[in-house]
Amino acid sequence: MTLEQLVNYAKTYGYIFQGSEIYGGLSNTWDYGPLGVTLKRLIKDAWWDAFITHDAKVVGLDSALLMHPKTWEASGHVGGFSDPLIDCKSCKTRHRADHLIEGADLGLSADGLDKDALERLIDEHAIQCPKCGAHDFTPIRAFNLMFKTQLGVTENNLQDIYLRPETAQGIFLNYKNVQRTSRLKVPFGIGQIGKSFRNEITPGNFIFRTREFEQAELEFFCEPGTEKMWFDAYKEKMRTFLRTLGLPESSFKFADHPEEKLSHYSNATTDIMYEFPWGYDELWGLASRTDYDLTQHQTASGVNLEYIDPLTNARYLPYVVEPSLGIDRLFLALIHAALRDEEIENGTRTLLAIDPSLAPVQVAVLPLIKKRHKALAESTFQSLLGHFRVQYDEAGAIGRRYRRQDAIGTPVCVTIDDDSLEQETVTLRMRDSMDQITIPLKDLPDTLSTHLTSEAPWQPQKKS
Ligand code: ATP
Repeated sequence: MTLEQLVNYAKTYGYIFQGSEIYGGLSNTWDYGPLGVTLKRLIKDAWWDAFITHDAKVVGLDSALLMHPKTWEASGHVGGFSDPLIDCKSCKTRHRADHLIEGADLGLSADGLDKDALERLIDEHAIQCPKCGAHDFTPIRAFNLMFKTQLGVTENNLQDIYLRPETAQGIFLNYKNVQRTSRLKVPFGIGQIGKSFRNEITPGNFIFRTREFEQAELEFFCEPGTEKMWFDAYKEKMRTFLRTLGLPESSFKFADHPEEKLSHYSNATTDIMYEFPWGYDELWGLASRTDYDLTQHQTASGVNLEYIDPLTNARYLPYVVEPSLGIDRLFLALIHAALRDEEIENGTRTLLAIDPSLAPVQVAVLPLIKKRHKALAESTFQSLLGHFRVQYDEAGAIGRRYRRQDAIGTPVCVTIDDDSLEQETVTLRMRDSMDQITIPLKDLPDTLSTHLTSEAPWQPQKKS
């Protein structure tokens, strides 16, 4: 599927709409529709379960989006959180200099280069503007990505404040509170999910790069010297998580940052790169950040953030391993991996073969003939409503209703027909195989539970 097809699909079926559409749209803003918001919540729940609920060493947090301005001075965001901005003088388009270099198809890497080095590369290789082909650029300017706003109600009492560009700093500021109240011993982690804001120079590629997005971040605090072990453990955990959600292992790879390109505070960094329609791009970052963040906040706040080992009485600032995931990027990857057009006997069908655990609608209940089967279909629907994500659909030919459920990713359709009235059986129609099986109506909840557990082995008996 091309990116354009994905955007169309998302809009057609109510996954994602253009933001502010009735006013002509606000560029690069997107609203998640009924199916989209459900899928997004399921992705977040899956992450929360895997990384927090089912890990005794990790707890959750929901910190404020607005934070004391000193936070961003200490973290380095005020001075350093910028992208290299360059304008084409000929056609006036704006670019990120590092993207310009890497997108020029010369096999060049701009990773970790400063402004002068980037300008040199652009000149040496006579890199052209991707829009108009000219090699005529302004000097590079560092453009800070943080959104600034003002706090306060009276003119002379306003304070500049930033929208957070990442959720991680809220975790560092609460590290002592959480450790003390949870009585956790190092090693332990704190995770949270929330919105972040970055005034990106070149937003685009649908929900891949937006100015408002959602992150799932985790800071794992460990004893200095053990960080590489935890780094490797998280690498494996991230791989397993993506596989469990149904992303084929062949669709993503790790890109380890070479030592000479690591940020000054990091002693290991890797990114999971997913093969998006435009090529491999970052889905999930993992960084071993040493004690940089805690040291910065300890110095700036004057509050001692040391940990005291209860056994040895040793005092130290823990090292930190940080997996940082963009929820919207994972959403895009999952839809991209699952969506296809498929040739079938009498035409084609759009199929979203998403893992049953993530399907926004798990079960659709369909009366074969509205007039005759409506009453039983409705009562069946009502009986399932408290247990599954279920939808009722009585409009149109049954084949077209199956097609629509295939397209939105519903794993099972339950059809109510004459046999249901006479013999108390229902037909289950499976999304991926299109197999149909008949089961007693009374077995429906148990059978559905078995099938919808994503790991459950399901051996459908073909309807004769
Ligand atoms: P990129 O190089 O693509 O700008 P980054 O390295 O700056 O990303 P991080 O600061 O490591 O990203 O943020 C962690 C994660 O947050 C990323 O791996 C990505 O999934 C997500 N993310 C970052 N920026 C955006 C954005 N503008 N829109 C959507 N998701 C984002």
